[in-house]
Amino acid sequence: MPQVVIDRSRCKGCELCFKVCPKKLLRRSSQLSARGIYPCEASDPTACIGCLQCVLVCPDVAITVEDDTDDEQPTRK
Ligand code: SF4
Ligand code: SF4
Repeated sequence: MPQVVIDRSRCKGCELCFKVCPKKLLRRSSQLSARGIYPCEASDPTACIGCLQCVLVCPDVAITVEDDTDDEQPTRK
């Protein structure tokens, strides 16, 4: 199953990804990141359908989608 992963250290909180997620999974975290902003978080990472819209729209390459159902090695941080 796909699973969305947000890199809090890269996110600048622009909210572009919030708008494109068809599952409305992405929202603002209630915890400040090290750069002093409230970054994106996924409300339910396992509800991700792997459409990659958030990955494509993020200007700071802060989002990856892992899918360990593939035979190939999933992308890991
Ligand atoms: S890959 Fe698609 S469903 Fe998953 S978090 Fe991103 S926009 Fe939402
Ligand atoms: S589009 Fe990228 S930088 Fe903007 S809020 Fe989403 S994860 Fe953060």
